[in-house]
Amino acid sequence: MGQALPVSYVRVVGVERITPRTARVAFTGDALAELLEDRPDQQMKLCFPRAGQGAPRLPEPDADDIYGMRWYEAYLAIPEPERPLMRSFTVRAYDRQSGVMSVDFVLHGDDGPAARWGRDARPGDVLGMVGPSSAYARPLPAADWLLLAGDETALPAIGTLLEFLPAGARAVAYVEVADEADEQVLASPGEVTVHWLHRDRGEQLVDAVRGVALPAGSGAAWLAGEAGTVRALRRHLVEERGLPKRAVEFSGYWRERLTQDDAPTEEDLAWAKERAAEDQDPS
Ligand SMILES: Cc1cc2nc3c(=O)[nH]c(=O)nc-3n(C[C@H](O)[C@H](O)[C@H](O)COP(=O)(O)OP(=O)(O)OC[C@H]3O[C@@H](n4cnc5c(N)ncnc54)[C@H](O)[C@@H]3O)c2cc1C
Repeated sequence: MGQALPVSYVRVVGVERITPRTARVAFTGDALAELLEDRPDQQMKLCFPRAGQGAPRLPEPDADDIYGMRWYEAYLAIPEPERPLMRSFTVRAYDRQSGVMSVDFVLHGDDGPAARWGRDARPGDVLGMVGPSSAYARPLPAADWLLLAGDETALPAIGTLLEFLPAGARAVAYVEVADEADEQVLASPGEVTVHWLHRDRGEQLVDAVRGVALPAGSGAAWLAGEAGTVRALRRHLVEERGLPKRAVEFSGYWRERLTQDDAPTEEDLAWAKERAAEDQDPS
């Protein structure tokens, strides 16, 4: 937190239910052409209006930062009843010609404001957007092969990472979804195998990755999804498969029984500390 990030409005121009539990929302916005880059895994925070607000009230950091107000301080300065709810999302696609940005919302249930909003989104609805920014880009480690693993919240990122692979690059992806109907078609210029795991059949990400025979040569991994699952995967790849820590990019995207507004747990803090230490010394 604390770093200046671009803040803008985006407006819904279309909604498509691409799978039973995924709403693909098309947005336009005045700032998109300048903000969005030609790179994969662009992450931002979407701001959702409070009940009764047509559009969310957005943080207004001073452009020259003369008051020392960065976007997060400006966000916290909005009175609580008017402060937008903020959730992290990934740019699934950006069409520079039409100016349309697509974002995939996982409809995981009725109890999250973002999932609820995605279920009911209509053309004309307005959200706020904080980011994306290349300051937060985490390029994939260079390696002979790549292992991607995640659940449906990681699919937008996995989809773009596969699309941006160099021709012939070797990758294997493990994606856990609710059932077969929630699979998506993924394209890539690389040599990619995608394995779908279905929760309704008891198939799980950790078991699947534990069972995979890793190819010869140097490997890298990219992991995202439920935080406990991501930690278990990362531990397995580093401690049992011997992948160097710096070759494993990992991120907890959501936490079982906790919202994104809930404070970090002791374990969250310990992992954040380890990750920060690795960023300082990636040996
Ligand atoms: C960098 C980053 C990028 C992300 N990109 C995307 C994206 O492109 N699309 C996307 O849909 N999500 C994405 N996520 C995940 C998303 O931010 C979380 O799932 C978020 O919690 C959803 O907010 P909510 O308001 O629906 O639920 P919250 O209010 O945060 O949580 C409410 C309840 O729902 C549960 N919950 C939250 N997410 C899930 C889930 N996926 N499955 C089951 N239960 C869940 C929580 O445990 C909690 O009990 C991303 C997260 C990060 C950190």
